[in-house]
This record gives sequence, structure tokens and C-alpha cells, in this order.
Amino acid sequence: TAFAELGVMKQLCESCEKMGYKAPTDIQKEAIPWALQGRDIIGLAQTGSGKTAAFAIPILQALWENPTGLFACVLAPTRELAYQISETFESLGAGIGVRCAVIIGGMDMMTQAIVLSKKPHILICTPGRLQDHLENTKGFSLRTLKYLVMDEADRLLDMDFGPKIEQILKVIPRERNTYLFSATMTTKVAKLQRASLQDPVKVEV
Ligand code: AMP
Repeated sequence: TAFAELGVMKQLCESCEKMGYKAPTDIQKEAIPWALQGRDIIGLAQTGSGKTAAFAIPILQALWENPTGLFACVLAPTRELAYQISETFESLGAGIGVRCAVIIGGMDMMTQAIVLSKKPHILICTPGRLQDHLENTKGFSLRTLKYLVMDEADRLLDMDFGPKIEQILKVIPRERNTYLFSATMTTKVAKLQRASLQDPVKVEV
């Protein structure tokens, strides 16, 4: 398939087919090969561009190759977006047994602590609640993290999640891959990019 030509492994190509993705979108074509090479990515793309699969596919492929504890964390500005991202990971990763957890505000901390103790591979979080668990949930940490995604970074920063994100950046491994997606490039997004990404490839659609 056209996804295989980007370097996407068979199980994930099959998931794409099942989901009705016939060909990669522009952002997927541009981002996936770089991401599979292990590069950090800054993606300027709107909702509807297929950006979620553009970061989910490389993460799932890396997870399949070397599953090691809590693997990836996606920061999203809203609960709705967090659920959508989780659904995409679960559909794409159905064939490889991926475990996702959504950790957002407005839900019971204890229930979420139990979910976290069950060792999900992928966390999709709003930054405030993630920071709450980092401070208050015994035994929970992000020290095995291999991938950090900041989705809709412009909105994350408009909602004043900047200080929470700074706290989170302090407690995750320096050696990791980071993907930052944003609809717009603002001064604040550029600052976050400098604080979190190493030698990123910029992809724009
Ligand atoms: P996103 O921009 O990630 O919110 O995705 C927008 C919509 O496009 C979602 O409903 C996806 O399921 C769908 N989508 C993502 N990639 C593809 C693709 N390659 N072909 C067709 N639909 C896609």
C-alpha cells in the first residue's frame, strides 16, 4: 500500500485499510518517514489534516519494535480531543495489543490512579491532570517515556497550560522523541519548540 511505501509496517497498514485510509494525507506523507527515522517533528497542520495518525503511526511502530513500560504521552488541550486521539491510537493499534488511557480533569483521581497502575503504553492527557498525578499518585512517573506529543500546541498555550507543560518537561527523560503539532506558529509556540524539541524537522501542510 501507499502507507507501506512510507515505511509503515504490515500490521499498521492493515489497520489503516480497515479504517478506510486508502492513501496517506499530505501531513502523513511528510511526517511519517522522518518520524520513523527517529527525528523530532514540528507539524503545522489543522484538525482534519490527518495529524493524529501522523504521530500515532510512528509511535505504535516503535512500541511494537521495543515495548518498554509507559511509552508515550500525548498532551491535548481538551477532553474531547483527548478521547479522539485515544480512539485513533486504539483503532490503529488494535492488531498489536496497545493499551491506552485517557487522563483528564473532571474525573475521579483514585479511579485514574488505578488505571495508571495497570501500566498503559500510551497516555493521552490534559496537562493539569497529568501534573496532578505526577505530584500525588504514588508509584507513578514518566521515567520510561520514549515519546512526548504536544497536540494543538497553540491552544494548549492559549489555555495557559505553559507552566504545567514546563513542569512535565522537567520530569521526563531528556533522551526521547518529541512531536509538536500546532495549527499556527506563534511566539509562544516557538518558545515551547525551543524548550522541548531537538533538531526538529518542520512539516507543513
Ligand atoms: P485528524 O486531523 O487527525 O483529526 O483527522 C481527521 C479525520 O481524517 C479523522 O476522522 C481520521 O480518521 C481521518 N483520516 C486520517 N488519516 C486519513 C487517511 N489517510 N485517509 C482518510 N481519512 C483519514
